[in-house]
Amino acid sequence: REQQVKQQISLLDQACQFYRQQLRQSDSRDKAVNYLKQRGLSSDIAARFLIGYAPPGWDNLLQHFKALPNAAEALEKAGMVIHNTEKNRHYDRFRDRIMFPIRDMRGRVIAFGGRVLTDEKPKYLNSPETDTFHKSRELYGLYEARQHNRQLDRLLIVEGYMDVVGLAQHGIQWAVATLGTATTEQHLTRLFKLVPELIFCFDGDQAGRKAAQRALEIAMPILEDGKSVRFLFLPEGEDPDSLIRKEGQPAFEQRILTATPLSTFFFNSLTADSQLDSMDDRARLAASALPPIREMKPGLLQQMMLERISEMTGLSIDQLNSLVNLHQISQP
Ligand code: ATP
Ligand code: MN
Ligand code: MN
Ligand code: MN
Repeated sequence: REQQVKQQISLLDQACQFYRQQLRQSDSRDKAVNYLKQRGLSSDIAARFLIGYAPPGWDNLLQHFKALPNAAEALEKAGMVIHNTEKNRHYDRFRDRIMFPIRDMRGRVIAFGGRVLTDEKPKYLNSPETDTFHKSRELYGLYEARQHNRQLDRLLIVEGYMDVVGLAQHGIQWAVATLGTATTEQHLTRLFKLVPELIFCFDGDQAGRKAAQRALEIAMPILEDGKSVRFLFLPEGEDPDSLIRKEGQPAFEQRILTATPLSTFFFNSLTADSQLDSMDDRARLAASALPPIREMKPGLLQQMMLERISEMTGLSIDQLNSLVNLHQISQP
């Protein structure tokens, strides 16, 4: 098995080099280079992220590896080739796409994301889960961020490849993206081992706001005193890449300074559509606030949030604490 993983890693590395080379040499390189230019990327940044190009055609990658015994099967295992079982034919997964290699913490290429150059669908295609690639663990840009910064104090978590790369292009070299999946507990636990502060910055759209809400739920049980989570909400229709291109690094960094702390976001979403005029309202508020607060690690922030609930509802802090602890004991 170890041998297989080694071969797979080596294959992916060679595929990455092939796509890099195609960006310089393929017949249709012009449209790929122009696309990257049009998105404001310099060749420096493209090189740092090993961005490449999968040219049009069904078997460029297969042909590149034709000297390798069992190339089709090996590439299929690595997620780079698709097997049509009906016709018993193999073909390249990524065709006519800008290629974003995804690297693990050690810098090894373990998967790819590929973007079309037009507005065709699907816009992005990702490698499937393989022996070496687990979406719920990996983050795009983490290796590059760690390479570039001797010491990282915080990380910005964004939605997309182009957000990571576009921010880097404008001097913000500490963004990472989840890979077309929601943020997981594993992601956050992993990142908190590296930095004390995480800032979520999702797109300014319905999906982005939903993702922030989900991230809040996942972050609350993981957060501990000394660590912090904040949320940066963007104007409607913008994502980190589009916004930093529009307003530049200083303005974007100004926004980061004013990002919303987790507790503020929590209380804002809690009270968004509720009034506290009646006892009934206050009971309802306490009922919806207590479960997530209960899930938090015991500590100062948890106590302060309980105090806030106490102020809002009139329940005493002792009452709230006993409600919280009761549940903790009864949980399996
Ligand atoms: P761009 O700026 O290049 O248009 P984006 O990153 O802003 O791309 P979004 O539509 O905001 O694109 O999607 C955010 C991320 O979600 C993408 O970077 C990609 O990782 C993932 N994603 C989007 N569409 C798809 C898709 N059809 N299949 C798989 N993943 C996708
Ligand atoms: Mn979006
Ligand atoms: Mn975008
Ligand atoms: Mn986007």
